Amino acid sequence: MAPRLHVLTATEHRLVVDALSALPPLHQRVLKDHLRRLSFLDDMPNTALTSTVSSAAHPLFDITIRAAILPQTASEWLTEKKRTCFAANNSSLQVAIEAGLRPAIDYILLHEATHVVDAKLKLTPAYYAAGQLLDSATAKSFTAGVWQKSDRSCPRFTAYPANAYSISPRG
Ligand SMILES: [Zn+2]
Repeated sequence: MAPRLHVLTATEHRLVVDALSALPPLHQRVLKDHLRRLSFLDDMPNTALTSTVSSAAHPLFDITIRAAILPQTASEWLTEKKRTCFAANNSSLQVAIEAGLRPAIDYILLHEATHVVDAKLKLTPAYYAAGQLLDSATAKSFTAGVWQKSDRSCPRFTAYPANAYSISPRG
């Protein structure tokens, strides 16, 4: 399966324009100045990816999205995605997510655009270096007292299930 560039149909183009228009004003402003390319791929294994193209004084980003999500509603996309976490062998149970009829692209683009906003405004501190904790001297109000690491919340939230298992950084 080799990912290939997907050329949008007129209907898909309208969906993308609508999703861009539905983004919050901050996201629209940041994308206008820092999005180099928004592209869609056929046979892309994951849903979407935001890449830093240039981290210089004026950072640029590419957003790449799996074209197969374009005709899906949020419910269809989430159901398909969450079913990959389970083996349905000999089970009468089924996983289904009901998230309404809004296009999946609206949520996926919001998610990816938020990565761009986060990187541009440096909301999440650079915690990858030397195992630095999020809740450290460099923490910002967005993470201070909330997250210790990218997959671990602060102790005051131990009653919540997020600490009961590891949250995958994928996707
Ligand atoms: Zn993400």
